Amino acid sequence: MFLHWHSGPGVRVPGTAIAADLPRRRPATIPVTHYYDAKRACRKCGRPFLFFAEEQKHWYEALAFPLEADCLECPPCRKDERKLRTLHRQYDALLARADRSEADTLELVKCALQLLESSVFTPKALPQLRALLRPLLADASGPRHAEATALLSRIKGIAA
Ligand SMILES: [Zn+2]
Repeated sequence: MFLHWHSGPGVRVPGTAIAADLPRRRPATIPVTHYYDAKRACRKCGRPFLFFAEEQKHWYEALAFPLEADCLECPPCRKDERKLRTLHRQYDALLARADRSEADTLELVKCALQLLESSVFTPKALPQLRALLRPLLADASGPRHAEATALLSRIKGIAA
């Protein structure tokens, strides 16, 4: 008998079973002997995707995730999520830098704008971004002036 967790008929894809490596898994209340490719709908964008049997094996065995952990988002949404996390870390690091150069400031504002456009940041962050750009905008002959001006119009676009 093939036993599987939270993927009843209509959810599991027939013919995709791979054996669970039982000794490596944590003791579970649900006995699991096999993983199947499982149909899912992304909670973020609603697109259907497959939570592959191989992926499940990796999650529950190599990564030792609890069996209750389910894959809720499709691969593109998960990729976006990772990208935004990286961007946020980059933003925090640049913000914390005491000896921030003009190039760093531009990078910082660019990170913040992407996070704003992805709704991670709210428009409340806009005045701070304007303040960061102000010194670069003050000197019209400065080497970073053109880039700072372009960022300012992006800020105005969001604020509008
Ligand atoms: Zn999605």
